[in-house]
Amino acid sequence: MQTKIEIRKERCKGCNICVAFCPKKVLALDSMGKVYVVDESACIGCGLCELRCPDFAIRIRKEAAK
Ligand code: SF4
Ligand code: SF4
Repeated sequence: MQTKIEIRKERCKGCNICVAFCPKKVLALDSMGKVYVVDESACIGCGLCELRCPDFAIRIRKEAAK
């Protein structure tokens, strides 16, 4: 199973919650204070970022490996 991380930057207010909760340090904030994906391949699909984001800026999708 491969995980796709969909970010809607326009919704992100840079609160850092997702960055703090991600157990694999997949996410970070850029110089504009918006979330971005550092290393998608490290994502374990736990869904914590999606669950914790107060602004629904992150969506986790799981895809069958190609
Ligand atoms: S699903 Fe889990 S591992 Fe993947 S980016 Fe979100 S918090 Fe990190
Ligand atoms: S939790 Fe949501 S609003 Fe906060 S930094 Fe992450 S994506 Fe942005």
